[in-house]
Amino acid sequence: MTPSETLAALEPQRIITLTHQAYHPEHILSLVEKERLSFEDFCALLSPSAEPFLPQIALRAQTLTLSHFGCVKQLYTPLYLSNACINQCLYCGFQARLNIPSIILNEKEMVDNYKFLAKLGFGHILLLTGESPLLAGVDYIERAIILAKDHFPFVSLEVFPVSTSDYIRYAEAGANGITLYQETYDKTLYRSLHPKGPKSDYSFRLEGPERALRAGIRQVGLGVLLGLSDWRLDSAFLGYHAFNLQQFYWQASIQVSFPRIQPILDAPHEIFQVSDKAFVQLICAFRLFLPQIGLTLSTRESMDLRNKLIHLGITHISAGSNTRPGGYTRASKDPGQFETQDNRSLSDVIHMLAQQGFDPVLKDWSPFFDLASKST
Ligand code: SF4
Repeated sequence: MTPSETLAALEPQRIITLTHQAYHPEHILSLVEKERLSFEDFCALLSPSAEPFLPQIALRAQTLTLSHFGCVKQLYTPLYLSNACINQCLYCGFQARLNIPSIILNEKEMVDNYKFLAKLGFGHILLLTGESPLLAGVDYIERAIILAKDHFPFVSLEVFPVSTSDYIRYAEAGANGITLYQETYDKTLYRSLHPKGPKSDYSFRLEGPERALRAGIRQVGLGVLLGLSDWRLDSAFLGYHAFNLQQFYWQASIQVSFPRIQPILDAPHEIFQVSDKAFVQLICAFRLFLPQIGLTLSTRESMDLRNKLIHLGITHISAGSNTRPGGYTRASKDPGQFETQDNRSLSDVIHMLAQQGFDPVLKDWSPFFDLASKST
């Protein structure tokens, strides 16, 4: 079975039970020391029974992160290329229903932003768009990748899912990674949150990471938008998805991100609060279950929380982010996709990491590796 078929076979009711039932304290403590956790163990660490043992779980997460990643913290920067979007995700500031003016960077504007960010020292850029096949479709994204590769050794995409043949085009243009959040694994909720547009196709999105990996993309990032649903349930599905992808595509780099929802005005859907404590619990549970995968945290989170979480499991962080299209070189009052909470500059974040004993890394990829992976 493929990873998405395996995931489809997972019974939500069983996961609700596994992540909410009471576990004996000794069982939770035994998991903290266990060498290799099963999926059921992971669910137990997400459960309310694990909350009192958060200090022990956090310490174990810290030890595992240090032993697998050392003191290295990878830095990247996002660049929004376009906010044009035909979808209506009810939680998003770019959704078609809000009728915000479309901004689509032209090639000169792209390159101006690339030059600005490369000059700061970034070697990894994450390119983002909404979903607008007519205004910023596959040709546009392919061209953006080609131009970005002149400035950044590592280019990843957070754009709409495409067919395998289009992912091949992205890979051949030089894309190294994609990030594709499922948003929620609750199919009924997914349908209600994505009432219109191509994104309403749950399965096409779910299978996107596998198409990308088959197409030769090396790194895949997964995530849910925390706050759309019961975080325990969605986190369990997410962990299972990441685990199965890593098993099936053992040569790929699988990563997990933890975006927490920031409500937009008049959001027509319920928000499930994810407290800071719950947030720490789920990140540490991921580290214990999947000790070798990269865990990413964006500037959606506050400076204080980011400073703490880099000790516990986070390996990749963004810095100096702007969520407005072309926002690094383009003065604008247009709304971004969300408001960032940690507004420190790249040099401030580097300074903080160094002060805390970490090695900030801006470039861990070389164009030579692109050639090497194409020839194997
Ligand atoms: S989340 Fe993405 S796909 Fe959905 S409305 Fe926003 S930009 Fe469009």
